[in-house]
Amino acid sequence: MQNPAIRVTVWNEYRHELKNARVAEIYPEGIHQCIAGFLDNEADLNVHTAWLDQPEHGLTEAVLDETEVLIWWGHMAHHEVSDTVVERVQRRVLEGMGLIVLHSGHHSKIFRRLMGSHCSLKWREADDKERLWNIMPSHPITQGIGEYFEIPAEEMYGEPFGIPTPDELLFVSWFSGGEVFRSGATWHRGHGRVFYFRPGHESYPSYHQSEVQTVIINAVRWARQTVRIEDSCDPVAPLEA
Ligand code: ZN
Repeated sequence: MQNPAIRVTVWNEYRHELKNARVAEIYPEGIHQCIAGFLDNEADLNVHTAWLDQPEHGLTEAVLDETEVLIWWGHMAHHEVSDTVVERVQRRVLEGMGLIVLHSGHHSKIFRRLMGSHCSLKWREADDKERLWNIMPSHPITQGIGEYFEIPAEEMYGEPFGIPTPDELLFVSWFSGGEVFRSGATWHRGHGRVFYFRPGHESYPSYHQSEVQTVIINAVRWARQTVRIEDSCDPVAPLEA
């Protein structure tokens, strides 16, 4: 029997697109719809979207219950995400749900909580060219990506990046200003898998670029929930008399 489709929820803050004409031109229906659009072309993915200004940010118990992989894009309104929802997402990751955090999601409440660190970095908006080196070509997330790929213009993110040492480091970026950055990295948290992927500043069309899309599609398949184990901390009787 074939595996049922992977249930993905693409979550977006969805503010820049409504406030800034240049961003709206690149993502007329929002970053979430762009990402959902290319994921939807994959027969094995069942895609749903949610955003900040929906009730409970669109991440109700029922939605998260059905979600196997959650994708997160946020930037200007991290502080508006309710702690109740952050707690709920964290619990689902620990139970086995996959989480893919994109670009400025590095400073989201959920990523900082799961990493246990500030997740700060250096940045510059100056049309830097970005070259992403694929340093783990055997990994499922880097399949279809050559030795490297380039994004003609992006916001620069530079080291030091305040993350715990990743379980796996998949991409290292070089920028035309000279900086480097750990731009693709994985962690396990509880029973869930977490992937951080750097590209996607709102004023550049990075999510329209095929290599970026390939990495995100691969990451969804890699992060798929394989078990769901709810938290418990119970006394037990010995197995032997
Ligand atoms: Zn940015």
